[in-house]
Amino acid sequence: MSDNDQGKPWRFPVPGVLSLRTWTLWSLPPSLVISVITVEVTILSLVGLGAMSAGLPSDAEIRAGVLVGVLGIAHTEAVRNVERVRRRVMVEDLHINLGSVWFFAGAVLLSPTLAAACTAVVHVHLWWRADGARTPLYRQIFSTSSLAMASFAASAAMTYAAGSVGSAARLGQDIVPVLVLGMLVFATVNTALVAGAIAVSSPGSKIEQLVGDWDENLLELTTLCLGALTAAAIVINPWLVGFAILPLLMLHRAVLVRHLREAATIDGKTGLLNAAAWHTQAQRALRRVVRSTQPRAVLVLDLDHFKTVNDTHGHLAGDHVLAAVAGALRDEVRDRDLVGRFGGEEFVVLLSGLQNGGDEEFEAVAERIRGRIASLRVEIPTPDGPLTVSGLSISVGGVVCPQDGGDLQDLLQIADTALYAAKHAGRNMVRMGPARHASLPRVAGEPSVTHQRGPAQ
Ligand code: GH3
Ligand code: MG
Ligand code: MG
Repeated sequence: MSDNDQGKPWRFPVPGVLSLRTWTLWSLPPSLVISVITVEVTILSLVGLGAMSAGLPSDAEIRAGVLVGVLGIAHTEAVRNVERVRRRVMVEDLHINLGSVWFFAGAVLLSPTLAAACTAVVHVHLWWRADGARTPLYRQIFSTSSLAMASFAASAAMTYAAGSVGSAARLGQDIVPVLVLGMLVFATVNTALVAGAIAVSSPGSKIEQLVGDWDENLLELTTLCLGALTAAAIVINPWLVGFAILPLLMLHRAVLVRHLREAATIDGKTGLLNAAAWHTQAQRALRRVVRSTQPRAVLVLDLDHFKTVNDTHGHLAGDHVLAAVAGALRDEVRDRDLVGRFGGEEFVVLLSGLQNGGDEEFEAVAERIRGRIASLRVEIPTPDGPLTVSGLSISVGGVVCPQDGGDLQDLLQIADTALYAAKHAGRNMVRMGPARHASLPRVAGEPSVTHQRGPAQ
């Protein structure tokens, strides 16, 4: 073999995906790599063993399999544009997949092996056409494997309960408990595998991050219901499936609207409220205070010497740190407290009435947050192995809101000045501004105070 023009030895061109050593998978924590590979090997073994032990599928089963596969692929093609927009604007990915309509229909009609294979084909096509290769390969293979595993398990449970393959859809009145069992198995297996992977990759995740919120779970139930109805329709008369298409397309639009709403209010990097949404919600909360007389406080927080983190480890690592700090902030306050990213490495919190509501109590919360950030260790996956960033610190300025709620701009100004005092006093500390006893009426024509900051000295 000859050398090329630059004198470098000729190498067989290996496509990125085939060059094993460069896979992003290896940059993940070892426990996550083991979990991902275990799920993939398990489903491959189950399908392989199933294919070897089961006889040839019947003609009816093959017809049902081909029909479900073709409908699943046609569905992906029909919603491709809506899905592309949704994936572009989404802040956080959904735990569930609307393709479950076909995955579950396959589980009802097909043997476990064929159901898993059909799910894999439809899901891989969905990834190729709708994702635009945005998601790393290892994650796509993992979600294909989890869904295939869910289909396999649901089909096996229904086959066992109904007596034979595909007979669930022909059971007449007894169909309901079998389908409910299938849905439970499908949802449990898929959720458990995804939640397990999240728990291993992000220890300390909240339950909602692991299993999805109510809306997502309702959406999953809806797709499984549509899947069950579609399977029944295929048995009665395949043309009846046409009646499921419009509800399915509308479901995609509803999910897109939800993601657009989130994108307008949520900061993509940290998952916190963005500055505009925080302002609006904080103003609304302060107005409510007048009625509830609950004491509140505003905290403005700024990471110390954050530029050094970027300069030392790079911007991507800095982004991971921002996300970890945001998670820690959310963890240290209650659900009803408003946490936002004001921009850059600045955060803002509106604390709602505490037990006693004394000034010291708010200061104690701020102090707790400061301590938490100081002890934070952020694990960042990199191609050269995990990198741990620690030794962070944050300065906090706070103000307790007056009884009538107060003017948000005034409160931000006081908290901001207190934050400056904390920075000047050496950083990594909390300073509370003077409490306001009532908001001052604004003089007509007086310019409203804006939240501005120059570089700290
Ligand atoms: P100080 O203690 O005075 O606050 O120092 P600092 O370095 O934290 O503050 P400075 O204002 O000098 O720098 C803020 C840094 O935050 C610089 C900027 O690159 C970084 N930054 C702002 N937004 C982002 C972001 O979204 N991602 C990353 N990685 N860095 C960001
Ligand atoms: Mg700053
Ligand atoms: Mg800073």
